Amino acid sequence: MVEELPIAVVGAGPVGLAAAAHLVERGLTPLVLERGPAAGHAVRAWGHVRVFSPWTYNIDAAARRLLGTTDWTAPDDDAIPTGGEIVDRYLEPLAAHPALAPRIRYGAEVTAIARDGLDKLTTAGRDAAPLRVRWRDAEGTEHAARVRAVIDASGTWFAPNPMGADGLPVPGERAAADRIAYGIPDVRGAARNDYAGARVLVVGSGHSAINVVLDLLALQQEAPETRVLWALRRDGVATLAGGGLNDALPARGALGLAARRAIDEGRLDLLTGFAAERVEREGAGLRVHARSRGTPGDVSVDRIVVATGFRPDLGFLRELRIALDPVVEAPPALAPLIDPNLHSCGTVRPHGVVELSHPEPGVYIVGMKSYGRAPTFLMATGYEQVRSIAAELAGDREAARAVHLVLPETGVCSTAALSGTEEAPAAAGCCGGPAPAGVDACCVRDADAKAAGEAGCGCGDPAPAAVPAPAKTATGCCAGAA
Ligand SMILES: Cc1cc2nc3c(=O)[nH]c(=O)nc-3n(C[C@H](O)[C@H](O)[C@H](O)COP(=O)(O)OP(=O)(O)OC[C@H]3O[C@@H](n4cnc5c(N)ncnc54)[C@H](O)[C@@H]3O)c2cc1C
Repeated sequence: MVEELPIAVVGAGPVGLAAAAHLVERGLTPLVLERGPAAGHAVRAWGHVRVFSPWTYNIDAAARRLLGTTDWTAPDDDAIPTGGEIVDRYLEPLAAHPALAPRIRYGAEVTAIARDGLDKLTTAGRDAAPLRVRWRDAEGTEHAARVRAVIDASGTWFAPNPMGADGLPVPGERAAADRIAYGIPDVRGAARNDYAGARVLVVGSGHSAINVVLDLLALQQEAPETRVLWALRRDGVATLAGGGLNDALPARGALGLAARRAIDEGRLDLLTGFAAERVEREGAGLRVHARSRGTPGDVSVDRIVVATGFRPDLGFLRELRIALDPVVEAPPALAPLIDPNLHSCGTVRPHGVVELSHPEPGVYIVGMKSYGRAPTFLMATGYEQVRSIAAELAGDREAARAVHLVLPETGVCSTAALSGTEEAPAAAGCCGGPAPAGVDACCVRDADAKAAGEAGCGCGDPAPAAVPAPAKTATGCCAGAA
């Protein structure tokens, strides 16, 4: 009886659709619930951004096999698409495949998931009971279905971090929402009129922020009045370039290098050690009360772009027994591999159903959301996650545990790289890539060190307090094993 129920997949993004493809291939029945009106709803929101991984990393293997049964033309493996091209050339054809299309409901926002008839406190009978997923359709009508398992691939795009350095919105931030954008607004396209000729404060130092800054500088070429103020929470820019030329994804390294060039050429105003304290209206614009390197200073701008990362929406999982790392908000077995306080290679060892299981049987958080607040997720990681979970749900435990993953390295391997402190980037490839599966290590260097009887490379120390103070010389997380 329970076995005949469908498996709910929350979200029709790259990883949710890949999950559906793997389930179908295994003879299981997905029920994909997508809040947006079409597949790739989140990816469409950043459709103007060119990603940094080439197609070869962006297409799931089961999805490729499914699409191979149609007249779909595979994109060039080495080409690097925009988000819009990922939607047009991959996600839309996949979602339209006759094996998936009838299984996807659009305008279906999942609002809650629970054990059918059992509240969170009740243990007896829990393992045998199905799950119940609730969603609201575009007209506001509530629906519910009993399902055998839930694969939550709802991403993090719709839960951006606010401007405050403490993770909270600063006073006045919400009230100024009409002049503040989150993520990567299309400043040269759909939102051009808002930004051309404006004074724009960009807050954040990751790839999203760099994308926005570079787009604004390109806009400045056409509308010279455009002024860019770039606020970094960290004290300096030494690691801003990320892996640069050492990055195995050249497009990702190039982003950082271009940002460094813009700074060196003085094409923008850089505010380091920045912490916004309050936002208030000033005429048609905004006045931001802030501290920069501890010194009070206000900036007057027309608009703000907050690109400070994303966090998972855990609200609809509230009635389930979910175990999450308190820092990263990722499954505890995954967290040490991706916690930017401990390890920032951008590599992660292969992982699947074992690492992604929760105390609540049959519930898995995958894709971007599985990384919680950590910033280094790649689609290829999610594809291997859902392959493993689909195998488990089909009863193929052996395939579920045989996890394989080859990820490009960022070229950055530094415990301080993402921690807000100034440090020179480490030597190229210091971590040697992700550790082999089944080994308690975060990277190859760490695994080698442990096999030799050492404590490890140092980058995976369990307590953030154990991370040594950053040096001004080029020391990487793996320096301890060298
Ligand atoms: C600008 C940018 C560039 C990136 N570049 C790369 C890259 O080069 N290479 C790479 O591998 N990765 C890249 N990533 C990271 C990551 O791979 C992508 O974000 C990817 O889209 C994650 O896929 P996902 O399916 O996990 O989540 P998403 O693509 O975010 O999809 C989640 C889906 O769930 C839906 N949803 C959310 N909440 C609900 C709900 N309650 N009910 C129903 N549906 C819901 C959303 O509408 C969305 O369609 C990039 C990310 C960003 C933002």
